[in-house]
Amino acid sequence: MVRRSDDVIIVGAGPAGATLAYELAKRGIGVLLLEKEKLPRHKCCAGGLTSKAVKLLGFDISEVVEDVVYEISITFDLRNPYLRQHGQPLIYTVMRDVFDHFLVKKAQQRGAVLVDGQNVRRIQMSGDWVEVSTADSILRSRLVVGADGAYSVVTRDLGMGRSMEYGAAIGSEIVVPEEELARWKSRAQMELGCIPGGYAWVFPKRDHLSIGVACPASKAKHLNRLHQEFLNSLGTSDYTISRSSSHFIPTCTKGRLVWHDKVLLLGDAAGLADPLTGEGIHNAILSAQLAVPVIENSLAHANAKLEDYQEAVEEKIMSELRIARVLSKFFIRFPHLAFGMLSRSDETWRAGCGLMSGELKYADMKGTAGGFKGIVDRLFRT
Ligand SMILES: Cc1cc2nc3c(=O)[nH]c(=O)nc-3n(C[C@H](O)[C@H](O)[C@H](O)COP(=O)(O)OP(=O)(O)OC[C@H]3O[C@@H](n4cnc5c(N)ncnc54)[C@H](O)[C@@H]3O)c2cc1C
Repeated sequence: MVRRSDDVIIVGAGPAGATLAYELAKRGIGVLLLEKEKLPRHKCCAGGLTSKAVKLLGFDISEVVEDVVYEISITFDLRNPYLRQHGQPLIYTVMRDVFDHFLVKKAQQRGAVLVDGQNVRRIQMSGDWVEVSTADSILRSRLVVGADGAYSVVTRDLGMGRSMEYGAAIGSEIVVPEEELARWKSRAQMELGCIPGGYAWVFPKRDHLSIGVACPASKAKHLNRLHQEFLNSLGTSDYTISRSSSHFIPTCTKGRLVWHDKVLLLGDAAGLADPLTGEGIHNAILSAQLAVPVIENSLAHANAKLEDYQEAVEEKIMSELRIARVLSKFFIRFPHLAFGMLSRSDETWRAGCGLMSGELKYADMKGTAGGFKGIVDRLFRT
């Protein structure tokens, strides 16, 4: 039996789903946000929000920020660290349970309805409606949005899981002594040498360090070992690991569809994480914002086209992901060049800062990279 009908049902209350719920509710659109877990819930993530992601949100998030990163120590095989600094915030670190819940509460304040602890099992088209089945109810709405992450049920039910590649990452929360924590204040580390095809990171949080490793999914079986080796080489292996978990990071390849019939896909469910850096929160938020005018239009006009969302995502996100993918393939083969460029070329470092702040896009990087300009320009022709 159908229990309730809404304008829009959003499946998944991560940054993508919560941002969309907030934006739609703000416009007076009836939104039901369904979340599998009870909130606040843990999400496996380093919790690094680039400053461009924070700017996109457009409201103050300082109450949930753990630390603000202004400098990054770049290493290759943990040798010869280059400390790179920037006058503006590069990354805001957050705990994902707190940050995601904060976004959801913002949406609720605007009138979105959250039902957590509701595992969506199936999505089905039914005439003018889309039916959403959970363990104990069938709900229906005029539009459904899949914001249910890397293992999206919505993507699966629409048969849209193709054209996807996966990264794999493991993240741990390491409780370190206060003097050690103080040493990391406002500083992150990016290690480019010791993870084949990937990288490792250290992000500072209020009372611990977030330390992790990312690599292509084809190397996922080595993740635990690589992570342990990284912890050992940092000298943190004797400290308490308060939490450790791993997850896939999906990135779409050419030809990926992000809508079907009356359903849109956002964030990780659409495979919108950056294949070079693994950053997914920015594009989760951006995809939600791109969906807003399309959904508004579709609810107002019966013949409005949801494929406008595809066009917007292609223009604003996929075009960038294509360049990031080319760069990532290159850096997987030649990580020492990535290290050389970021550490020794001021121009590349400035370009990296521009990418994190949103002042630059990948497409603008052509012609940058100092002494490595030839390499970058050749990559852009690939
Ligand atoms: C180890 C690791 C580190 C990372 N570090 C960073 C980082 O520092 N910065 C960054 O930008 N990105 C990072 N990412 C990527 C980032 O975590 C994701 O790209 C981001 O969370 C995507 O947001 P989302 O809202 O699309 O999906 P999610 O955040 O995954 O949210 C999806 C939500 O849907 C819910 N859900 C799933 N299935 C169902 C269902 N059947 N019914 C109802 N609800 C459901 C889930 O419980 C979840 O709450 C990292 C990823 C990993 C694995």
